[in-house]
Amino acid sequence: GFHGTSHRFVSKRCIELMGAEKASRVIVCHLGNGSSLSAVKDGKCQDTSMGLSPLAGVPMGTRAGDIDTCVAQYMMNHDNLTADECLNILNKKSGVLALSGVSSDFRDIETAANEGNEDCRLALDKFAYEVKKYIGSYTTVLGGLDCLVFTAGVGENSATMRASICEGLEYLGIKIDPEKNKTRGEEAIISTPDSKVTVWVIPTNEELMIAQDTAALCK
Ligand code: AMP
Repeated sequence: GFHGTSHRFVSKRCIELMGAEKASRVIVCHLGNGSSLSAVKDGKCQDTSMGLSPLAGVPMGTRAGDIDTCVAQYMMNHDNLTADECLNILNKKSGVLALSGVSSDFRDIETAANEGNEDCRLALDKFAYEVKKYIGSYTTVLGGLDCLVFTAGVGENSATMRASICEGLEYLGIKIDPEKNKTRGEEAIISTPDSKVTVWVIPTNEELMIAQDTAALCK
């Protein structure tokens, strides 16, 4: 599905790094301007958070993510909107942009939150909360978890977002090492040696995946 090229690259790379047995149950968190999660069992995707369109799943830079369908009906009736106008708002003016009232860029939101902007703190907390919910749900889908992988702009670069997502997930066997978590944009394990789940940062490489697929098709 959407972000499928990234999920495929990252989950394959995780299996290469860990070996098939230790990466049998993998959750990939592609967190960027657009965000999605996938549940991968033995190299095959079982579930992914986006749907017919990229609007579904966790809140994103400007997309609302999962909402009660009746929100759309309410917006259309309340503001006399057409379906297209309503979806335009849900796709382009919602998510952390609307929650923070500042920006769709997580760097701007983190800076403002650190300066005391409460709406920005709420936007970051809401994002982490929804990602956490998907991790819990996909751990159930997979019957447990071997590896949790962070990728894309936010996933590769934001140590604070990775930490807040993993906070409170110790009961699932997820234990982050704060020092290792300081990594940015590089392949690295960020969990403690005694963490049951190996937590990775794996930079995505959609271009390489596309090139490899093209080469395979041209053979
Ligand atoms: P992508 O869509 O994968 O290119 O990711 C873009 C998003 O990653 C933007 O919202 C950026 O603000 C975010 N991003 C990039 N670097 C950082 C960083 N150091 N801390 C927080 N967010 C970041």
